[in-house]
Amino acid sequence: MTDLPSMDDSDLLRRLPKADLHCHLDGSLRVETLLELAQGLGSWLPAHDVPALRTAMRVPDACTLEAYLSSFAVTLGVLQTADALERVAFELAEDSAREGVWYLEVRFAPILNTRLGLSSDDVVDAVARGLARAERQTGIVARIIVCALRQLGPDASLEAARFAARHRGDLVVGFDLAGAEAGHPAGVHAPAFRYARESGLACTCHAGEAEGPESVRQAIDICGAARIGHGTRLIGDAALMASVADRRICLEICLTSNVQTGATPSYHAHPLGAYVREGVPTVLCTDNRLMSDTTVTAEYAHAAAAQRLSFGELCAIARTGFEYAFLPDSERHAELARFDAAVALLAAGATRP
Ligand SMILES: [Zn+2]
Repeated sequence: MTDLPSMDDSDLLRRLPKADLHCHLDGSLRVETLLELAQGLGSWLPAHDVPALRTAMRVPDACTLEAYLSSFAVTLGVLQTADALERVAFELAEDSAREGVWYLEVRFAPILNTRLGLSSDDVVDAVARGLARAERQTGIVARIIVCALRQLGPDASLEAARFAARHRGDLVVGFDLAGAEAGHPAGVHAPAFRYARESGLACTCHAGEAEGPESVRQAIDICGAARIGHGTRLIGDAALMASVADRRICLEICLTSNVQTGATPSYHAHPLGAYVREGVPTVLCTDNRLMSDTTVTAEYAHAAAAQRLSFGELCAIARTGFEYAFLPDSERHAELARFDAAVALLAAGATRP
């Protein structure tokens, strides 16, 4: 960053109010908590002390999306009790609050947490309890996005949308389609998205991560997504990119995750800067704090260093995160007013000689 040289960049980025709109619960456990929960359950781990487990859980760069997703077997092994789910949700929100995240949307597929007998209702209730406790203790506003999974097929997605709609008001604000993108087009899940939208839920959709622009087009034109998870490969279709900019569809950008899955060869080569220049709304997110060994602040630092974005541009991205929050209008406007006031103070302090 070159426009605010008087403050340490990392401190400035930590203090910048941020929203994380793309964060998976089962990819965002503390290493210490994963170790403790697995030891209690006797479940398998790839390593048995904190430093080695941290290394083992960080997915290597340039693997495939499928290989990246396979690491979730470890975390899902411990996320099968209400106590574990509440604890992990609380700690995720607490860690986010500590690094300047004011608004967090946590996503997960409840069906994956029912192996030991919990119902999907139990799962959402436990996560909501953890997030509500974090909100009381830290002030962070945290909400839930229910994920359907591409590989489970359209009937399961419609069931997930019905489930999410029943929990609207229990911190559930949105619906998402996640899972293996290659070979599982979003378009067949359109009935689930329609049900979710008609029930008052906002919709996002993972797309353009493992597949090309056509996948993004289906997510927008057929499924009606207001936000796209990743959209990394949208850069391959200039006309569609212009349309995304015109229609104000927001891309949830996860730089480190994209480097790991090979969606982009490097931080430097990521299309984020091109999206910013073309007027595509973007927000920086973590995806999976554990597997990517990252934070929202670290993602902003990568954007600053590799994409040469200025502090003003990073502030605009942070503001976009609040603009596209899946909150009721009155709450979103209140968050934006709070953001604007805080950034004005931050900028004034940062530019003092
Ligand atoms: Zn994701």
